[in-house]
Amino acid sequence: MLRLRTIVIATTMALAACSQQPNEAANPPAPAASVAAASSTTAMTSNPFYSASTLPFQAPPFDKIKDADYQPAIEEGMRQQLTEIEKIANDPAAPTFENTFVAMEKSGAMLHRVMAAFNAVTGANTNDTLQKVQDQEAPKLAAHEDAIHLDGKLFQRVQTIYDQRDTLKLDPESARLVEVVYKNFVHAGAKLSDADKAKLKDLNKEESTLSTAFTNKLLAATKDAAPVIADKAQLAGLSDAELAAAAQAGKERKQDGKYVLTLQNTTQQPELQDLTDRATRQALFEASWTRAERGDANDTRKTIERLAQIRAEQAKLLGYPDYAAWKLDDQMAKTPETALKFMQDLVPAVTARAKTEAGDIQAVIDQQHGDFKLAPWDWNFYAEQVRKAKFDLDENQIKPYFELDNVLQNGVFYAANQLYGLTFKERHDIPVYQPDMRVFEVFDKDGKSLALFYTDYFKRDNKGGGAWMDNLVTQSKLLGSKPVIFNVCNFSKPAAGQPALLSFDDVTTMFHEFGHALHGIFADEQYPTLSGTNTARDFVEFPSQFNEHWATDPKVFAHYAKNYQTGEPMPQALVDKMKKAGKFNKGYDMTELVAAALLDMNWHMLGADAPLQDADQFEAAALKKDGIDLSYVPPRYRSSYFQHIWGNGYAAGYYAYLWTQMLADDAFIGFKEHGGLTRENGDRFRAMVLSRGNTEELAKMYRDWRGHDPEIEPMLENRGLKDAPKP
Ligand SMILES: [Zn+2]
Repeated sequence: MLRLRTIVIATTMALAACSQQPNEAANPPAPAASVAAASSTTAMTSNPFYSASTLPFQAPPFDKIKDADYQPAIEEGMRQQLTEIEKIANDPAAPTFENTFVAMEKSGAMLHRVMAAFNAVTGANTNDTLQKVQDQEAPKLAAHEDAIHLDGKLFQRVQTIYDQRDTLKLDPESARLVEVVYKNFVHAGAKLSDADKAKLKDLNKEESTLSTAFTNKLLAATKDAAPVIADKAQLAGLSDAELAAAAQAGKERKQDGKYVLTLQNTTQQPELQDLTDRATRQALFEASWTRAERGDANDTRKTIERLAQIRAEQAKLLGYPDYAAWKLDDQMAKTPETALKFMQDLVPAVTARAKTEAGDIQAVIDQQHGDFKLAPWDWNFYAEQVRKAKFDLDENQIKPYFELDNVLQNGVFYAANQLYGLTFKERHDIPVYQPDMRVFEVFDKDGKSLALFYTDYFKRDNKGGGAWMDNLVTQSKLLGSKPVIFNVCNFSKPAAGQPALLSFDDVTTMFHEFGHALHGIFADEQYPTLSGTNTARDFVEFPSQFNEHWATDPKVFAHYAKNYQTGEPMPQALVDKMKKAGKFNKGYDMTELVAAALLDMNWHMLGADAPLQDADQFEAAALKKDGIDLSYVPPRYRSSYFQHIWGNGYAAGYYAYLWTQMLADDAFIGFKEHGGLTRENGDRFRAMVLSRGNTEELAKMYRDWRGHDPEIEPMLENRGLKDAPKP
């Protein structure tokens, strides 16, 4: 995924358009804050965020940044930006594009510096101190955004330029900036009466506080819920590596001699594939399923019930029937009805496929005289047996061909070289926030230095689940900044001296996140608001999912899939098996994804008049209503641990993963029609899509490159959903 920040600075970061729940609150903090700042000027000038970084690419000086530096820098950054914004709003000169829009783009430099680093460490390397700062600053940052968006004088200038836009002879990117920023203001409530603005600010503040609370509760709940197992016999079936990891996790939690099965963010857990003891499987699954519903301090249900209600109220204030209608107004899909129909159209095909797969699994259970009905904790265990029987393929046969560094350099980087001419050189002089991280300098086809790319691949207890990309520095010609980008994953860290062997899912994730990285690396925009991945949610997952396709391109695959011990390429028979097995279990995969996406949309299509919901009842009813309540295929994320929608800015936007799958698969067919992996194809895609950020209407950008609107057939084909499902 791409981490969409809930903390976004309105006018200068376009993620505002897609991620921000325009937040909060009340006191335009200027006077008090300036006094405070004045009294601590000396301390502030020595803060590592005070001036631009002097490191290459203005990379954050993580070697100098201490936990204690973030909070004062955030406060000072907000104070500085508000001063700048006030100056723009009170400018005696008549509003011009230059003195209003360009000036806003230039504002908040210090705040951007600190927030980029802060978002990185709180997402991937957090601790109690940082979490406390996050709790305290989230509502203030939300208030800060509102102070800008809801500044009547400033909006008047924005409105004036917007009304004149056709006569100002603006270049296309500048014209786009006017439209995007204007819409951001309107979406944030700039046109509301003062009384309604005050109401919105209060709602925003509460939402921001609850959203942060949700994130922190979930992190703690996920850690606490991990099953601790004393008897090794109950773990029969786990590989040596999994056992070692569980023992290590036990040690780290001062449970020496015991095994801890740490939970990952999804409903299903990797060990469920291997555990032979059905009771252990059930215990692990239930720990995952109920992780945030244990009636303790980390139970998230009350939090999300209120969040859904607040969001409906926000939408109503702004004149929309529900939160989804408000959020989709500036997306590629445009309305919740379009997104909902797209998903509901997928339901019959994906559930039919899942039912067929369930039949295959039940047959294996019966054959082994299991004498029980397939439950969700059985799925992966028996699916793996079906896979072995059908395809004679064992994950452990293929992992030795996917050693991490080899996949990165000879797979991910190689594909980028073949398509776009990029080359990469590791640097050891750029400071990082955690010693496992690596930094690469990215060079363009003409040898010019283009960007920095950091990797943070291994799972840690203080890292959020899943995988994501973000910028440490946003590209902008106006600001003279080049992209600094990082990818975060949660791959199992091998014991010291052992190679990091990946599953093919991990390999795909690596290609995915690097697809986001390319979208950032190729950014070539004037304005930071329109730069790189600062696009609509239902477009931003397109470059990443598109890049996944190169993992299986025959030329790329042959280049990286080599045994880490012998250097031998993967035998053709195994490659063929993998390919055939590629469509395996797609019914399950797609059903759990569509179920989660529908849950999200249902939560956010609640009107403001709806009563406070009971999370569990609402969830069950929503799944039933959409015909996707298969007992053995639970949603990929349950409401109570759906971080994307309650914490990360994907509210009413999870469908975007499916929507952009459609774009990605359709786009890949476009490449294939013109010869696949060629520089010509890559250069054209870069010029017309990857380098364009949000500089034009996204549906048009796609159409101009592809020659037509995206079609759904390649997606169905790709996922084995096209053939008539067996009864
Ligand atoms: Zn992504």
